[in-house]
Amino acid sequence: MRKFALIGKNIAYSFSPDLHNAFFRSVSLNAQYALEDFNNKEFNAASWNDLISIYDGFNVTIPFKEAVIPYLDQLDEVSRAVGAVNTVLVKEGKTIGYNTDYNGFLSLYDSIIHKTPKTAYILGTGGAAKVVDFALRNKGVENIYFVTRQASLEGATTLSYEAFRSQKKTNALLVNATPIGSKQYENQCPISEEHLVGFDGVIDLIYTPSETLLLQMAKKRGILGVNGYKMLMVQAYEAEKIWWKDLNIEKNFFVNYQLK
Ligand code: NAP
Repeated sequence: MRKFALIGKNIAYSFSPDLHNAFFRSVSLNAQYALEDFNNKEFNAASWNDLISIYDGFNVTIPFKEAVIPYLDQLDEVSRAVGAVNTVLVKEGKTIGYNTDYNGFLSLYDSIIHKTPKTAYILGTGGAAKVVDFALRNKGVENIYFVTRQASLEGATTLSYEAFRSQKKTNALLVNATPIGSKQYENQCPISEEHLVGFDGVIDLIYTPSETLLLQMAKKRGILGVNGYKMLMVQAYEAEKIWWKDLNIEKNFFVNYQLK
């Protein structure tokens, strides 16, 4: 039996085992997906060696997306560029890190953007924001601003929320890569409605609730919007493709999967 897992902290309620095990059942694969919660144990060289002796591959979530990098034998181009890994393949004792959030984000982008915007604003400066930045640059977006509550992020253009509010926008894209609007911050919005003037598209990486306050405001103004559900499903599909190189995996299984 091949074994896979999600490693992270506070992941007891993760949807990942349900989704990946349902996929294994759907194509009769002799495989299992488990949770490796590091709530009460340390993440270090010894635990890393345990993981690679048990698993054929794993997903990585907060707070280990950067912490796993020094342990990996190889990084793919995307994970090297963004400095974060969310998928690991263990093959003949060697480990390779990938970042499938990248293709997940591109699936959202392609679902609503049909003409490359000149300017994009990314709210937040965390791991997801960095993946979005890399994807938008590869899509040819010329001006990309990170909007942050913090002092500047090295090597990138950042705006305070105040500077963001006062900048005039035209045909721009907004990406929410903060947790504001998620279950924990439900009915909150990272910006107010009047600051949606000048945007043609809004991508909210949040997937629960399915329509955040930000997306409701965009809809009210006739701006195209999409939530992060497809990104979540496509990153899982991309991870399975990495783990089962010789298998022709049905993308629709993931795209149509309904979380319980
Ligand atoms: P993260 O590393 O915690 O970063 C979130 C960023 O949001 C922070 O860097 C921070 O930026 C900003 N932020 C945090 N708390 C805030 C607050 N109270 N008010 C305003 N800004 C705040 O998280 P992440 O991994 O990048 O994920 C960001 C969001 O994307 C989460 O909601 C996550 O669930 C979602 N996500 C979705 C998918 C998907 O598949 N759909 C994949 C990855 C992430 P500043 O400190 O610079 O302001």
